Amino acid sequence: MFILKNEIQFDMAHYLSGYKGKCANIHGHRYRLIVKIMSETLHQEGQLRGMVDDFGNIKKVLKEIEDFFDHKLILEDNEEGRIIGKSLSQMPNNFKIIYVPYRTTAEEMSRHIFNMLKERGLKVYEVELFETPSNSCIYKED
Ligand SMILES: [Zn+2]
Repeated sequence: MFILKNEIQFDMAHYLSGYKGKCANIHGHRYRLIVKIMSETLHQEGQLRGMVDDFGNIKKVLKEIEDFFDHKLILEDNEEGRIIGKSLSQMPNNFKIIYVPYRTTAEEMSRHIFNMLKERGLKVYEVELFETPSNSCIYKED
């Protein structure tokens, strides 16, 4: 099997709904995302001969992932998230807020990203999302 590996980083703020402790505050991370694309075979002809995929194609998809999360506040789409989002939207700053249907943990985010890549036609082997330099979550499906 061939596995292509690619990586991006993005800055994102989040809020862990229902969490008690230091991370109960809105805070941010520099996320590091490592994506692995798999294939049993290589293209036999044309522009992609001898390749799993063009690295440029993968980069284009990863740019979409980066744009979705980068420099945004990601909130869970629940009552608490809506209250925070609503109060921030009354500020003149035009904060960029994205709502997602899950608690914004590295686990849920890595599964979300895995599915975003799949929906865009990539054959994903696994996604690894680092929330800090020493903590990451790997998501894969059989
Ligand atoms: Zn955090």
